[in-house]
Amino acid sequence: MSLRNLKLRWLKNVPLKNLTTFRIGGPAQYFFQAEAEEDLIEALKEAREADLPVFILGGGSNLLISDRGYPGAIIRPTNRFFRLAGQELEVGAGISLNWLVTEAARLGISGLEGETAIPGTVGGAICSNAGTPDQNIGQLVKEVNFIDRETLELGCYSASRCHFAYRDSIFKRKADKIITSVVLEGRSDQQASIWSRMVDLAQRKASTQPRVYPSAGCVFKNPPGQSAGALIDQAGLKGFRIGQAQVSEQHANFIVNLGRASSQDVLALIDLIKDRVKREFKIELVEEIVILSEELRGS
Ligand SMILES: Cc1cc2nc3c(=O)[nH]c(=O)nc-3n(C[C@H](O)[C@H](O)[C@H](O)COP(=O)(O)OP(=O)(O)OC[C@H]3O[C@@H](n4cnc5c(N)ncnc54)[C@H](O)[C@@H]3O)c2cc1C
Repeated sequence: MSLRNLKLRWLKNVPLKNLTTFRIGGPAQYFFQAEAEEDLIEALKEAREADLPVFILGGGSNLLISDRGYPGAIIRPTNRFFRLAGQELEVGAGISLNWLVTEAARLGISGLEGETAIPGTVGGAICSNAGTPDQNIGQLVKEVNFIDRETLELGCYSASRCHFAYRDSIFKRKADKIITSVVLEGRSDQQASIWSRMVDLAQRKASTQPRVYPSAGCVFKNPPGQSAGALIDQAGLKGFRIGQAQVSEQHANFIVNLGRASSQDVLALIDLIKDRVKREFKIELVEEIVILSEELRGS
């Protein structure tokens, strides 16, 4: 199926590699950046009429995309508005999370410090409830606005309906809604105190997370009461390599791309890690990263 004679200007065969922090991934058959809600709805409609599967891309910082690319329509919400009302921040899904954290600090709004040095967009952060072990973005959410992929209608969920959990939300579990904006509730604080907490966290991350080679952050969720990184380390896999994909020497829950890693290198390493940790500790690791497309696994 193809997209022809339509209202929107779709791009064809767009390389996705440079739209991910892993720097891995083949081309999207079709690609569209939607700034306005109407364009997002129209893009969903046109993709549906052409019978194309749709994937929503944020900052690509928690994703492994197949080298074969995506045989469908990749839509990237780029709505970047920002409004402050009292201590409430109303934010478009396409805003960079790093920009938001810095802007909130500049305005003396505290609460987002736990999101320091996390790449990606606000939409992606809400979807995966991004954060640290102590704090995640869901704790600040008042409401999330979205477009329902099925009905193409606008909707709004209060925080309780988002079912935020560890690196999880209703948006990640069902993937049937596209986040367009969010209202976050901060609290006033001294700029200096906010900066100091941000600097502290940024320094801790700089010393524990690999930043030289491309990665997609933590590959696995921490099993209850355990650290995935510690288990992988104890299984003797720190530094282990398949092709150009390597278990980071610095943080065993990160896989780094040494330069020309293929998606198959990474998938083979993920499978090996899961097997080894299961064999050694009888623990089943579960991926935190999103794999596109899972059906290409092992093929
Ligand atoms: C160096 C590094 C450090 C990291 N550190 C952390 C950390 O400390 N804590 C942490 O939690 N994460 C961390 N991550 C992982 C990643 O940055 C977060 O998960 C981030 O929130 C993903 O956002 P994104 O916009 O890049 O989403 P993407 O990777 O583009 O997408 C992730 C998922 O969100 C969905 N999605 C994206 N936008 C929308 C939308 N508008 N509506 C609906 N669904 C959407 C996608 O379909 C996909 O399923 C790190 C990553 C890197 C590379």
